[in-house]
Amino acid sequence: MAGATKIGIPRTLYFYTYYPLWKTFFEELGLKVVFSPPTNKEIMDDGVKETVNDACIPIKVFHGHVMALKNKVDYIFIPRLVSLDGKSTLCPKFLGLPDMVKNSVDNLPEVIVENLNLNQRWFDFSRFFIRLGKNFTNNIWKIWWAYFKGLYRWKKHKKQLCEGFYPRTEEGGAGEITMSPRRDQGGNSLKLAVLAYPYVLYDNFMSVNLLKKLEGMGVVSCIPDNISLKNLKRARRSLPMDLFWYYSNQVIWACLHFLQKERVDGIIHVTAFGCGPDAMVDKLVELEAKNAGMPFMTVTIDEHTGDTGLHTRLEAFTDMLKKKKGLV
Ligand code: SF4
Repeated sequence: MAGATKIGIPRTLYFYTYYPLWKTFFEELGLKVVFSPPTNKEIMDDGVKETVNDACIPIKVFHGHVMALKNKVDYIFIPRLVSLDGKSTLCPKFLGLPDMVKNSVDNLPEVIVENLNLNQRWFDFSRFFIRLGKNFTNNIWKIWWAYFKGLYRWKKHKKQLCEGFYPRTEEGGAGEITMSPRRDQGGNSLKLAVLAYPYVLYDNFMSVNLLKKLEGMGVVSCIPDNISLKNLKRARRSLPMDLFWYYSNQVIWACLHFLQKERVDGIIHVTAFGCGPDAMVDKLVELEAKNAGMPFMTVTIDEHTGDTGLHTRLEAFTDMLKKKKGLV
């Protein structure tokens, strides 16, 4: 694919929800897809410099990823995600993301912005891809083919998530993402629900390797993406109403699922510093856990979160639960 037009996709936020679909779609249109590298200190520092102070940490990191891509590609893809399920919406920072980036980062290549809003008609998802594809070709059949092939890969990926896999980026490599199985440490191991937005949980740098740390402590981590949509919807029935924000609903519904159906030994809620919706989500998760008598801990991630501090807190929490369960 030497000489092909390059399109850059920042490796954060909605990336973890859609990357198999977008990668396949653009490649089928003949483009070379370039993901920004896994988050590192330089990306984090660049993002902090380029963003307004009161932005949440994932938005700062997003700006850093755009900086890492801007001189390497012909286009950067920054869709405006409005509604992904036709009911809830995305938080205001997602809605304003393309404008925020265009106004903060200088010397950008062309930014491809398309609105994804499934609030209007059921076929809006395919229409989004038709509009997106028309930026690169007028061949409608090629666009449909790319869309269906992308959809097939994405469905396979979602199936793997429901089977207990999660996307893992190996450190030090070229940033390849592999689907890693949830390590089952044996029937008698500690099982914890780790609730967070996918862009916090799967980002090793932002989450300070939280999933890996827990694995090293002999914990089986159960995450929201491992629950099927059917089970999430079943769990949500006990709520009087949904929240306004898509990713926040996923966290609350996952919490209810782990309290009602797939019983775990404790819950860790990982929140992003500066996240408005999380102020409400954290309280709700805490109350639900308290009512069910479930051990609960909040971990707040920001650009200063230290490896040792987090390790100590996780160790203290898991040791207490292991003792309670008679594992030590
Ligand atoms: S939901 Fe929270 S963490 Fe995510 S982008 Fe919005 S404010 Fe930031």
